[in-house]
Amino acid sequence: MSRTSMNRKKVIVVGAGLAGCAAALSAYENGSSVEVIESRTRRSIIEGETTSFEALQNLTQDGDALELISKMGFDIEPEATYIGARIYPPSGKHLDFRLGRPHGYFIRRRGEGSMDHQMIERIERADMKIEFGTRVERATPDGRLTISKGDDRFEMRADIIIGADGRSTTVGKGIASPLYGKDIAIGIGCHFKGPHGFEPGIAQCWLGSKLCPGEYSYVLPSREEVTVVTTMRPHMVPKGTPYARYLERFLEIPSIREGLGSSRRICDVFGSVPVTPGRRFGKGRILLAGESARLTDPLLGFGIKNAILSGHLAGSSIAHVDPVKEYTTWINERIVPDLRKRMRARETIMDSLEDHQIDQMVSMIEAVISGTDPDAFFDSRRRKALGSGIWSLTRKGYAGQAMKLLIPLVRANFSLKT
Ligand SMILES: Cc1cc2nc3c(=O)[nH]c(=O)nc-3n(C[C@H](O)[C@H](O)[C@H](O)COP(=O)(O)OP(=O)(O)OC[C@H]3O[C@@H](n4cnc5c(N)ncnc54)[C@H](O)[C@@H]3O)c2cc1C
Repeated sequence: MSRTSMNRKKVIVVGAGLAGCAAALSAYENGSSVEVIESRTRRSIIEGETTSFEALQNLTQDGDALELISKMGFDIEPEATYIGARIYPPSGKHLDFRLGRPHGYFIRRRGEGSMDHQMIERIERADMKIEFGTRVERATPDGRLTISKGDDRFEMRADIIIGADGRSTTVGKGIASPLYGKDIAIGIGCHFKGPHGFEPGIAQCWLGSKLCPGEYSYVLPSREEVTVVTTMRPHMVPKGTPYARYLERFLEIPSIREGLGSSRRICDVFGSVPVTPGRRFGKGRILLAGESARLTDPLLGFGIKNAILSGHLAGSSIAHVDPVKEYTTWINERIVPDLRKRMRARETIMDSLEDHQIDQMVSMIEAVISGTDPDAFFDSRRRKALGSGIWSLTRKGYAGQAMKLLIPLVRANFSLKT
C-alpha cells in the first residue's frame, strides 16, 4: 500500500515501550497512518524514569535477538557472550556447565538514552504523531478508545488498536488472561562497575528457598560490570519478609562478596515481571503485544527480544485482511511454543521442588553429565535411556538439547505433575 493512499488504515498504538515503538515503526513501514499514545511524559522517558528496564546492560538470549534489535535501529555492542554457568543448589555444592554454543549475550547501548528513548526518537523522525502524558482509560474491540490528558477526557476511533501498555494492560482488559499474584515474579538487584573477580561469560545461578523462593538468583558478569539479582515468587515469600532481605542475604554470601571485589554499586533495579504465558493476543480491532499479551519472559532473557518481536509482528500484520488472525498465527508459530516450553521448564525446576529435591536434582544432573552413576537415580529402562541420551548430548556439547531432555526426567524422578 502506498503512503499516500486514501485507504490507509488508522492505527493507534497504546504505550511507547519497546513493543509499542516496534509496532508503530512496522505499521508505519507497512503503509498505515500511526498515532502513539503514551502515559509517561517525554521528559520522564529522557531522564530515564520508566516502567520497564533501565539497566545499563541487558541480557538477551540468541543471536537472532541481536539481529532484530539492530534492525530496529539500535546501536548496540555485545559486551559478553555467555558460554557457561555455575549452578549452586541450596547445599552450596556447585555444578559447572560449559556450553557448546553461545547461550546469551550482554548487550550494551552505545550513545545516550534508554532503548525506549532511542526508539521514540525514530518515531518522531518519521511522520508519526506521539502524544505523551496521555492515558488510555478504555479500549473496545470495535476500535473505540476513551482517553484522558490532564482534566480532559475524549474519545477516539481507530481501524486497529495495538495494546502495548505493559503488564497491567488497560487495552487488554477482558481480552488478555487476568494476571494474578502467582503469575508474576519480583526481581531485586543491583549493578556493579569496576574490577571484579567473576569469570566474564559464566553466569551463576543460585537456587533455594532461602535466597529466592520459587525462582533463582543470578550473577551475570561481563568484562567490566556485574549484575546481581535475586528473583522470587511473591506467593512463596513468607509473610512479613521484605523482598530486599533476599538481596541482602545474596550479597552477604562470601564468594559473592569476594567476587565483587572493589567494584562499585552503580544502580539498583527493582521490578516485577510476568512468568506465565498469555493465551489470547487480540480480538476484533485490538492486537496485544509485549508484556500486555504476556509474550515476554524477562527472567530467561526474553524480555527485550520478545517485546520487540511481538510489536514488530503486530505492526506487520496490519497490512493483512484479518490482522488478529494473521498476528495470532505468527505469534503461535514464532513465540508461543518456545515461551511455553521455557516457562514450563522453569516451573518444573524452580517452582515445584523443595530444597532437598533441588539438591538431589543437581546431584542427578551431575551424575548424568559425568556419566558416572546413572543407576543410582534411574529405576526404569526408559529413564536410564533418557539419562544416557543426556550424557551423550552433553559430551558432544549440545547442552541446550540435553537440558530439554532433562525436564521429563526431573518430572518423572520427582513425581511432579505433567
Ligand atoms: C527491572 C527490570 C529489568 C529488566 N531487565 C531486562 C533485561 O536485562 N533483559 C530483557 O530482555 N528484559 C529485561 N526486562 C524486561 C523488559 O524490560 C520488558 O519485558 C520489556 O521492556 C517490555 O516491553 P513492553 O513494551 O511490552 O512494556 P513496557 O516497557 O512496560 O511499556 C509499556 C508502556 O505503556 C505505557 N502505558 C501503560 N499503560 C498505559 C495507558 N493506559 N495509556 C497509555 N500508555 C500506557 C507505559 O508508560 C509504558 O511506556 C527487565 C524488566 C525490569 C522491570
